[in-house]
Amino acid sequence: MKTRTKVVVIGGGIAGCSTLYHLTQEGWSDVVLVERDELTSGTTWHSAAQVTNFGMTQTMVGLKSHSIALYKKLRDDPEYPVGYHHGDGGIRLANTPAQMQGYRHFASMARGMGVEYEVIDAEECARRHPLISTDNLLGGLWDGEDGDIDPAQLCQALAYHARKAGAQVYRNTPVTALTQHKDDTWTVHTLHGDIDCDIVVNACGYRVNEVGAMMGVHHPVASMEHQYFITEDIPAIAEAGHRMPLLRCPISDYYSRQEKGGLLVGFYEQDCKTWGMDGISPEFSNDLCPDDMDRVMDVLEGAFERMPVLMDTGIKRVVNGPITYTIDGAPLVGPIPNKRNAFCIIGLRAGLGEGGGHGWLLAQQIVHGEACYDTWVIDPRRFAGHTNVELTALKAIEDYQNEFRFHFPHEHRPAGRPAKTTPLTPIMAAEGAEFTVVNGWERVDYIKPAPDFHPNLSFDFDEAFDVIGAEVRNVAENVGLAEVNGFNRIEITGADRHAFLDRMFCGTVAKRDGRVGLGYLLNHQGCVKAEATIANLPASDRGPARLWYGSAAASESHDMDWLKAHQRDGEDVALRSLTNDYTILVLAGPNARAVLASCARGDWSATAFPWLSVRECFIGFAPATVMGVSFSGELAYEVHVPNASLYAVYLTLRQAGEAYDMKLFGARAVDTMRMEKGFLHWKADLITEFDPFETGLSRFVKIDKGDFNGKDALIRRQAEGATKQLVTLKINATHAPAHGGASVMQDGNVVGTVTSADWGHRLGINLAYAFIDPMLATVGTFVELDMYGDLIAAEVIAPSPYDPTFARMRS
Ligand SMILES: Cc1cc2nc3c(=O)[nH]c(=O)nc-3n(C[C@H](O)[C@H](O)[C@H](O)COP(=O)(O)OP(=O)(O)OC[C@H]3O[C@@H](n4cnc5c(N)ncnc54)[C@H](O)[C@@H]3O)c2cc1C
Repeated sequence: MKTRTKVVVIGGGIAGCSTLYHLTQEGWSDVVLVERDELTSGTTWHSAAQVTNFGMTQTMVGLKSHSIALYKKLRDDPEYPVGYHHGDGGIRLANTPAQMQGYRHFASMARGMGVEYEVIDAEECARRHPLISTDNLLGGLWDGEDGDIDPAQLCQALAYHARKAGAQVYRNTPVTALTQHKDDTWTVHTLHGDIDCDIVVNACGYRVNEVGAMMGVHHPVASMEHQYFITEDIPAIAEAGHRMPLLRCPISDYYSRQEKGGLLVGFYEQDCKTWGMDGISPEFSNDLCPDDMDRVMDVLEGAFERMPVLMDTGIKRVVNGPITYTIDGAPLVGPIPNKRNAFCIIGLRAGLGEGGGHGWLLAQQIVHGEACYDTWVIDPRRFAGHTNVELTALKAIEDYQNEFRFHFPHEHRPAGRPAKTTPLTPIMAAEGAEFTVVNGWERVDYIKPAPDFHPNLSFDFDEAFDVIGAEVRNVAENVGLAEVNGFNRIEITGADRHAFLDRMFCGTVAKRDGRVGLGYLLNHQGCVKAEATIANLPASDRGPARLWYGSAAASESHDMDWLKAHQRDGEDVALRSLTNDYTILVLAGPNARAVLASCARGDWSATAFPWLSVRECFIGFAPATVMGVSFSGELAYEVHVPNASLYAVYLTLRQAGEAYDMKLFGARAVDTMRMEKGFLHWKADLITEFDPFETGLSRFVKIDKGDFNGKDALIRRQAEGATKQLVTLKINATHAPAHGGASVMQDGNVVGTVTSADWGHRLGINLAYAFIDPMLATVGTFVELDMYGDLIAAEVIAPSPYDPTFARMRS
């Protein structure tokens, strides 16, 4: 066994084998996989092994398409062929118009990744899958690429090709401990000796937390028992003359595919069960859980109704095995938060279909620092601070119970809530707040007009449209108050703090005490990594001279890891997270200054406290730090308050606002206003696939300022020319917004993708941002949006259509 290598991948299921294979494909051959038993002895060996191409984001579609292309290549490899039924096709059923509309949106989104789904009616579903009845069926989404693969052959083939490229695979070699050294390298201790390496990868399936514990990490992954059965042969299948397509049912949550001459039918029952919460026997390997068909009777009935032939068909075999889930259903593939040189590829619940793609994107991240797609949807750092196995188990149960029911826009399911709150959460609830969830925080979405107000889940503008419009009008004409909790805040102290940030940001960073600036951090490919507001706070009785780095709530672990990774030895810079200690109250609207001035001493005039200023003060008697910044485009102040004083400051502001009839507003109102102002959302509009020039952020780049992260790559990209350009679109439709991922078309070709969209209530227009072909990115050009299968005209308009001179914010 090697004693030194570059990467040790722990776990020989599909996740580990795919990672190993792709590391060699990316050019690293000095890599090792260690497996405690034989390859595929975890979940992989007994998988139903369906391979589908459906995803709800472009990254998921892209990585699944990679799996399919790879599996086809392996199937056709004469040296080591893999059994793969590609192209049986698959149908996701629908029995409501809203589900059908959702499928049309996902079809539009997938088209941008070169994948064509078809939305078909009930009769066509039955024509393509002759075993199904059309009762209570509206139609479905057809995916022609669907199929199934032999999981053991797949993993053996991946390992074989990796070995051929120089990788080593050590079977029957359990990892017993992990040691990280001062230089961030690792020693992997196994039953058969130690291996020193630069990087470790946890690919341990349901044993993820055993290996996580070896490095002091608690991964938010929980396992569920999951069952399928295989039937005797069904004559109608042989008679059909073609293989049966895959089937997925969002009404009763089962799936099926053809297995030899019969069917394999799997269930996601309501009465579901977590597995292994109190530890897993070391002997559980190549093993299954006891069958329990009684538990799945509810969904079984649905399957029988849809495929009546099942009622007359015998069951040959039942399989019940552990399957892993995360908090939001998507896997955790990428860097492990707060660790160096440690990655994971865990929480895979459709690992056979997705594993090829996940291993590909992970290997790219390990070798190049970034993948070809923005990987935020699978990034292990997307949850921060509140995640543990207990919470994950609650969300896993909920997710399992809703397996094939996609989330609608603005849908936040109830399990595991509230996870993160502030002292104001119950107050806001009493005010009638509808909450959204942002990185676990309960954030006010809007104030409901009545306690029983519940908009229907829809891709169209929903019943909250007018409620949000009224909140916006109040902010535009008067003054509103909003709580923005969970905002990521890092306090940066030390003599080298400005030099450090100068290196991290691609533009000028505000350095003067009392001033605030917005800037962008690039990755080493010159693309947009992060966005942050920097506030310069002078030394005071509240602390030494310091910077407050503020960014999106979800970026907490991501940004901290990125900043820490770039600190240099001997640099006088200290980073401290204040995210859980402070909350922002936003005062916005033409009367915001009057409200603030009536409860906080000091001169708040535009001359004494202009836009982009920061000042420590008291709101009434409670300490606060006020910034003159605005995401709404109106005159606005962010009041940053230590949580201990939050209620006091809230009461004072509410009281001061009474004279102006101040009203509360929420995140949905903010979103429509920021669209009108041309402000961007991190990980919707700001992604690692594009540089700041392509993202329309040229004014935030200072190429000649000296060295900064990503500078050389950015210069190279600039010379090569933009691949896409972010534009603002005015859509010729009033019934529905576009949604992120929708395709922008011209002459029947996809020319771009929508990143975010909303109605602009102050301007009365339907807005979207989209990355489109630069040739079309001129104001006045008309393109078409594929909105739910209809082509809708959209005009490229100038960014920031509301108050383009920013006069209101500066007033
Ligand atoms: C009943 C069922 C049906 C399914 N159907 C489908 C489907 O149709 N399509 C689909 O895409 N997915 C399906 N899945 C899910 C899919 O099978 C899993 O997502 C996938 O197999 C997970 O692979 P993995 O490599 O992450 O984990 P595993 O296959 O569990 O591999 C982890 C490996 O790590 C090893 N290991 C653990 N600890 C150590 C250690 N300390 N040292 C060394 N090695 C260690 C284990 O021995 C194991 O081999 C199904 C799952 C179940 C249970």
